Amino acid sequence: MKKLACITLDMEPDYGDPEKRIRLLENSEYFERYVSIIQKYNAKVTMFTVTNLFDKWNEHFAKLATRILIEHAVHSHTHDPHNACSLEEVQNSKQAYTKFTGKSPIGYRAPIGRIDKAGLGHLLDHHFMYDASLYPSIRPGQFGYANLHMPNIPFRVKRADGKSLIEFPFTAIEKIRIIFALSYAKLLGWFGYSMLLKLFGLPNHALLLSHPHDFYFASIPNTTVKGLEKFALSRNSSKAFDYFENMIRFLAKQGYEFVFISELYQQVEQMPLTEMAWENWK
Ligand SMILES: [Zn+2]
Repeated sequence: MKKLACITLDMEPDYGDPEKRIRLLENSEYFERYVSIIQKYNAKVTMFTVTNLFDKWNEHFAKLATRILIEHAVHSHTHDPHNACSLEEVQNSKQAYTKFTGKSPIGYRAPIGRIDKAGLGHLLDHHFMYDASLYPSIRPGQFGYANLHMPNIPFRVKRADGKSLIEFPFTAIEKIRIIFALSYAKLLGWFGYSMLLKLFGLPNHALLLSHPHDFYFASIPNTTVKGLEKFALSRNSSKAFDYFENMIRFLAKQGYEFVFISELYQQVEQMPLTEMAWENWK
């Protein structure tokens, strides 16, 4: 099986920033650093974009697209964790995406992984072809989850009416189920994280998760994030770009080819996938 990797970037306002800025796009130092890493490895980026940002950030997105290969997918319309995949969010995001890109969206990612059965039903009703929201791992806390029973590779969710979509879970390091995300690499530090990566490896189809704030969280002034979460997100903040490059270099060395999720979808769709009945979701 060909090894394919997708770099994903959840395009949303900087987490905890009262000004709702996106410094990765605004700050030329961050922007150039990001672009140079993607270019260096001939990578591509699937951007899960919060669709109410399209109007305001249009020029920034266009500028980024002149430098690196990007495709947009949907990351809800308003990024409300309490309303992550409601009918309204699915409808509004589809409408905004279609208006901006001239195409129907094929992929959805719910804010902080809060996909559920009803949400998947809305995606099926609105002809989405994939969802990429499921954490196949454990996280405590208010927005926690316990999904160790879920696959770490793409699978098909099929409803009794015959409609189906492919779920691309966030990729976890095999066996230990630590997410392949810049935030986790920063939390654990590269020494430990890279050891786990080498020891346990990734599946042949891998998604790398990142957010703009992952690259400079500790430099966001007046953040509303407090306590343990602030501490966790601030760890190794100044090394974020190096870690990001390390993760991409790891993929390149392991022989992964970089593709958009839409391209991975084309490959995976041809394969025999595990099927899960939508009716039995969770
Ligand atoms: Zn998000």
